Amino acid sequence: MLSKRSQSLINAHKRKRWGFVKGQGFWLGKKFSGEHREKIKRAGINRIVTEETKLKISNALKGKTKSLEHREKLRIVNLGKKASKETKRKMQEAHWRKGIGYNTWKRFVLERDNYTCRECGISDKRVLHVDHVKSKSHHPELEFEVTNGMTLCANCHMIKTIENKEYNVNHKRNAVHD
Ligand SMILES: [Zn+2]
Repeated sequence: MLSKRSQSLINAHKRKRWGFVKGQGFWLGKKFSGEHREKIKRAGINRIVTEETKLKISNALKGKTKSLEHREKLRIVNLGKKASKETKRKMQEAHWRKGIGYNTWKRFVLERDNYTCRECGISDKRVLHVDHVKSKSHHPELEFEVTNGMTLCANCHMIKTIENKEYNVNHKRNAVHD
């Protein structure tokens, strides 16, 4: 850190050489006169944002992806805030407009299976998963197909995953031998 005196000497040198010093602009630290401030205030009050302008702004912003940094800032600002009923309804609507989503599909399957694991019959909502009978990766068109969903508890789901893996490994091994 430079001392105040040497900093001011450097600034004087810069001012002489380039005519300005960064961070020490003409307006910096200056106050507008009372009259001028009043003018600015009045201009702001009289500025009416018409519906058309609002629409233009909203259209211009649509489809723009926010940068990660911006999203992180928004996340921090919104932390602890609860979504109002209105916001929730809007979110739901947007969701439906996109078509049936994962959560809706999951709910449909759970309701059809009466919130019960199809393997062992446990009906504790906290441990229930919804599994794809035919895998999403092989049958992406069946991703949100209710008939392709199956309610399983965490335990049975894990067993099924392991069995599938073993089956796939054996299958591949056999295929190599053939
Ligand atoms: Zn189960």
